[in-house]
Amino acid sequence: MVTLTAIVAPLGRQIHRHLVKHVRSQRWIPARACNLTACSSKLSILSQVHPMWQEPLAIPGGDRQSPIDIEVRKSIFNPQLRPLKVQYDPRTCQQIWNNGYSFLVEYDDTTDKSTVKGGPLENQYRLCQFHFHWGENNNWGSEHSIDRRLYAAELHIVHWNSDKYSLFEEAVMEENGLAVIGVFLKVGKRHEGLQKLVDALPAVRHKDSVVEFNKFDPSCLLPENISDYWTYPGSLTTPPLTEAVTWIVMKQHIEVSHDQLAVFRSLLFTSAEEQVQRSMVNNFRVQQDLKGRAVHSSFSPFLKETPSKE
Ligand SMILES: [Zn+2]
Repeated sequence: MVTLTAIVAPLGRQIHRHLVKHVRSQRWIPARACNLTACSSKLSILSQVHPMWQEPLAIPGGDRQSPIDIEVRKSIFNPQLRPLKVQYDPRTCQQIWNNGYSFLVEYDDTTDKSTVKGGPLENQYRLCQFHFHWGENNNWGSEHSIDRRLYAAELHIVHWNSDKYSLFEEAVMEENGLAVIGVFLKVGKRHEGLQKLVDALPAVRHKDSVVEFNKFDPSCLLPENISDYWTYPGSLTTPPLTEAVTWIVMKQHIEVSHDQLAVFRSLLFTSAEEQVQRSMVNNFRVQQDLKGRAVHSSFSPFLKETPSKE
């Protein structure tokens, strides 16, 4: 199935797939129960460590890895941070792919039709895919946390610097190569924009399955206020873990229903041929040390209220 789509997929995306294609299953078991507090750093790995995290990983540099906990009071308000400008053309949406770790909604990135610029970015970045990370229940699942509070899931909208580079594979090796928008998902009311995607997910239940998916504008998954965000220099949170990412983490979360997340959890890490099927849950990386990095905010935490903690 991957071979079929690889024929039409742009080279950059083929490489991206190659980089993550060995991903299989993962079970992160919390060492103790945690409730609405960040616990990813306390997670211990019991059995069946995901092969992706078992192999020795070459981490270029290693001083700007992701994800991290964002400490609101230690973040630095930077009034120079401009508003983020996203412009997505839903016609560039192509397909959904279960890569064995998450599902990727992939976009045609051969032109600058769907881009993000502004904010902390000096260049224009082209949309290539978005995906999510989520937990086995609603208490954890996000990769980043805010003052050690985790969310049920986290959306990552991935873009590469098309002003400086000509392919994703080139950009992924460079410090200013990628820009990823992170959005937290909290369980609450049903998200109408997300539902079209949720409805398509049963078709990509197994690893390596791909289904055509069109006319989806990921800006419907952004919160109302995209002016307030944190930004810091980081990395991909899946191999090759390259330190190429300018992270833009939205302050405001979006709400999705428990039932919508349940459909995410009905996906499988495993292919149809495998004897033991494993649910696609807890597909997040453990948090990484800040290592002296500054997290900048586009808003002053002392002038506006911090995210609610109910
Ligand atoms: Zn991600």
